[in-house]
Amino acid sequence: MSRVPLRKALADLPAYVPGARVPVGAAAYKLSSNENPYPPLPSVVVAIADAAVDVNRYPDMYATELTAAIAARLGVAQESVVAGCGSVAVLGHVLTAVCEEGDEVVLPWRSFEAYPIAVELAHARGVRVPVGADGRLDLARMADAVTRRTKVVLVCTPNNPTGPAVRDDELRAFLDRVPRDVLVVLDEAYVEFVRDPQAPDALALFAEHPNVVVLRTFSKAYGLAGLRVGYAVARPRLANGIRAASTPFGVSHVAQLAALASLRAEGELLTRVEALVAERVRVLEALWAQGWAVPDSQANFVWLPLGDHATTFAERCARAGVLVRPFAGDGVRVSVGEKEATELFLEVAAAHAPR
Ligand SMILES: *Cc1c(COP(=O)(O)O)cnc(C)c1O
Repeated sequence: MSRVPLRKALADLPAYVPGARVPVGAAAYKLSSNENPYPPLPSVVVAIADAAVDVNRYPDMYATELTAAIAARLGVAQESVVAGCGSVAVLGHVLTAVCEEGDEVVLPWRSFEAYPIAVELAHARGVRVPVGADGRLDLARMADAVTRRTKVVLVCTPNNPTGPAVRDDELRAFLDRVPRDVLVVLDEAYVEFVRDPQAPDALALFAEHPNVVVLRTFSKAYGLAGLRVGYAVARPRLANGIRAASTPFGVSHVAQLAALASLRAEGELLTRVEALVAERVRVLEALWAQGWAVPDSQANFVWLPLGDHATTFAERCARAGVLVRPFAGDGVRVSVGEKEATELFLEVAAAHAPR
């Protein structure tokens, strides 16, 4: 029987496993997808409702007002900001804009599970460099892995799912070693949660290095995961290439207006981020006191390196009413959410602590 063949690469593609969802009618907390537990602000809901009446029209293709507001907020040129349907889509556009068949993309592993998929879909080849037992990226080894075939290096900081951010000094040393025709993507999906004084200022590095692209998102700190808005900051020539590779009208009108309203309400939203950071610190300290070797997370989640016990631990959490994200054979990632939820998780953790 003849049938339409799918691209061969698809068969080998790792599946993106979404965090478990709460079944309809069940009582459980969802700490499995690094979402913001707070509901949208009333002012953001009003912007969403106002935008709804215009959805018979296509959105502003280049999200002009939004990219202008982001550029002003970050102190970069508007032509350097490319918005997309979540920063995960923007990453895909970045890769398709620069990768030729067979080019290498150096990436840390374990890291964001979308990376290997995006790399394969861009016809490139992923070169994985192990993350240390302390959950930190090994930037020296990542620089060693750069060859003449390398087109892009992905730097996830803080690293999802392990939590630590890279240090400014090690990232600078890394950038000094990477050739200027290799793109370095700084994926800062959790930058608003970083409190480590040694963490880099990605925009300063972007100003100094023409081969640096910064990815950020409204999904985590700004609580707009369901509306899909993220962006890249890149030199204008690269930004134009990313735009050319983007899905036309990728950011909906509703999403554009919600993101603009979120920037206007930034003070209120960042107060919530502060509360989540305080809760992260409380969770980390409780886990350390229980004897867990948990990396010092700078994001809105913590990582338990449970190895072969990851799946059973996640099942125990689910029975206690909290959904967490297991990575089989490796560990469990737990998002920092409502205090009631983190309390339930800490009870399960205490019962299974190493000592
Ligand atoms: C969540 C996340 C993103 C972005 O997600 P979008 O919702 O697509 O903006 C990007 N990178 C990492 C490492 C993430 O964890």
